[in-house]
Amino acid sequence: TSLIELDHIHKSFGNTEVLKGISLQVNKGEAVCIIGPSGSGKSTILRCINGLLPVDEGFIRVGNHRVHELQNEKAMRPLRHQVAMVFQQYNLFPHRSVLDNVMMAPMQVLKHGREEVRERALRLLKKVRLDGKEDRYPGELSGGQQQRVAIARALAMQPEIILFDEVTAALDPETVKEVLNTIRELVDEGLTCLLVTHEMRFAREVSHRVCFTDKGKIVEMAPPAQLFDHP
Ligand code: ADP
Ligand code: ADP
Repeated sequence: TSLIELDHIHKSFGNTEVLKGISLQVNKGEAVCIIGPSGSGKSTILRCINGLLPVDEGFIRVGNHRVHELQNEKAMRPLRHQVAMVFQQYNLFPHRSVLDNVMMAPMQVLKHGREEVRERALRLLKKVRLDGKEDRYPGELSGGQQQRVAIARALAMQPEIILFDEVTAALDPETVKEVLNTIRELVDEGLTCLLVTHEMRFAREVSHRVCFTDKGKIVEMAPPAQLFDHP
């Protein structure tokens, strides 16, 4: 059975319906790219999946959590541990070192011991190729490096799923590549990933399925080989 399941989700802001019956299933270990025009509801889909936004109608399940039934922050907590999210704006704490940024959530939220968290954070920073930058502050790093800190921070919570919301949209082409390569490694390792992105090449070469949205609907969904012409 799938790890993420959306069944006929509807969501309105005021009188405007921005999700008009979204159904989507993501299997464990699958990487799915969501591509579509600005305003077509891509971010809203992600924010419904991790419970940041309540849906009006429909059914969302993540693992064995029925997201649409979770009523408050306390009920959401196990879901939040399972699903991490990375944003276009890295949302790092500017006055904390790179290492502290990665350690903070597992210390405060998971209440794991400092040494254990520190060792894992160092390992994750190495994994995203930022060893040596542990004591720097976010402002001293390039955009691509900051985004990789944000990815390490997401991984530090040991999530089962990571949602990526246009994480390369604000980067210059050189650093886009570094960040995409980091994500590609996570996909190769079997992490379940749902990515809103404009990177067609990444969608074609890395994702298992591509989902095209338009005006609040999914208009097409298939493995990239069926959607794109030869390389
Ligand atoms: P996309 O990610 O595809 O660009 P979004 O999911 O961000 O689209 O937004 C879909 C639509 O919902 C847009 O028209 C946007 O303006 C609107 N919208 C998003 N969030 C809110 C909100 N909190 N309040 C009102 N309208 C919103
Ligand atoms: P090449 O054209 O030989 O692949 P590049 O310098 O374009 O060389 O890319 C170097 C690495 O970055 C390659 O592994 C490539 O697959 C990866 N890469 C480049 N652009 C993207 C992208 N948009 N999405 C995913 N991976 C990318």
